[in-house]
Amino acid sequence: IEPELVGDFATLMVWADGQRRMKVRTNAETPADCKIARQFGAEGIGLCRTEHMFFDASRISSVRQMILAEDKQGREMALAKLLPEQRSDFKAIFTEMAGLPVTIRLLDPPLHEFLPHGDTEFEELAEITGYGVDHLKRRADELHEFNPMLGHRGCRLGITFPEIYEMQAQAIFEAAIEVAVESGDAPVPEIMIPLVATKRELEILKALVDKIAGEVFAAKGSTIEYLVGTMIELPRAALMAGEIAEEAAFFSFGTNDLTQTTLGVSRDDAARFLNPYVEKGIYPRDPFVSLDIEGVGQLVELGADRGRATRPDIKLGICGEHGGDPASIAFCEKVGLDYVSASPYRVPIARLAAAQAALNR
Ligand code: PEP
Ligand code: MG
Repeated sequence: IEPELVGDFATLMVWADGQRRMKVRTNAETPADCKIARQFGAEGIGLCRTEHMFFDASRISSVRQMILAEDKQGREMALAKLLPEQRSDFKAIFTEMAGLPVTIRLLDPPLHEFLPHGDTEFEELAEITGYGVDHLKRRADELHEFNPMLGHRGCRLGITFPEIYEMQAQAIFEAAIEVAVESGDAPVPEIMIPLVATKRELEILKALVDKIAGEVFAAKGSTIEYLVGTMIELPRAALMAGEIAEEAAFFSFGTNDLTQTTLGVSRDDAARFLNPYVEKGIYPRDPFVSLDIEGVGQLVELGADRGRATRPDIKLGICGEHGGDPASIAFCEKVGLDYVSASPYRVPIARLAAAQAALNR
């Protein structure tokens, strides 16, 4: 059964939509999720996490080959396999979203999720790539990290392995042009760089995206509009948002990582001690579910204000889990964000909460 909103509830949602100022987008990376979210009223994608597209067995070995390759040529061979697959991923999403805004985040895995583990995986990879097991193990050792969530992830990976981001940008632009020609609904991709801490990171990676755009447009004899922007998910990025906005057409607040890095609490392990914290009233609610408005919220507000001071028309959104939490949505309204992005099944709640927040202003 396909989920949809019907009857009085659907009517109520339409009334709510008449009241709200903020747009409601969704976090989705499959056409099936895009479809569900649209049926629930999503007005675009606020976060397409592209690392989720690489986890099936055939693709992960290409990613591993790319990361562990001996040289540029080895990396390029792996990327040549991934390019057509990514192109069709993006075509399917653009087609499903029919011209609505789609924010695609370039790859952001903690690197260890993409390294082989155990002899069998190394042996299989050696067979596929032709590299010896010893070489692969040595490269994996070189890339090993003690704390991957604070390590080689997000844009840092794009700086070290620019070919990955080049491949993704190429796939996005080719897909967007093909969908524009085939359907007449021209997508406007919003390409998002993750885990930026400094303006220079964004400057380097935006230049890379713009270079690829130029190459694809020349090869296809056709252009499309696009935006390049960044996640604000590190305290330094929020503090430096004025400078970072010089390079960013939009900010999306990644409040999962912003909460993790501001509180110094691992988002993956928090449950072990946060429950007693909430019981004792140290935090009113789990800060990974409901935004810590006094603390993390200050960074969001400051980032939004500093971004707007540099670039008054900067587009501002939120794509952490908090984008589907009513109390956090009320705060986003107060800060004046343009949209919230929630997981597909939270889109209706987000529509109602955004309307209520606008009425309570
Ligand atoms: C975030 O950090 O809030 C975010 C949306 O990115 P991810 O959850 O994928 O790290
Ligand atoms: Mg993040």
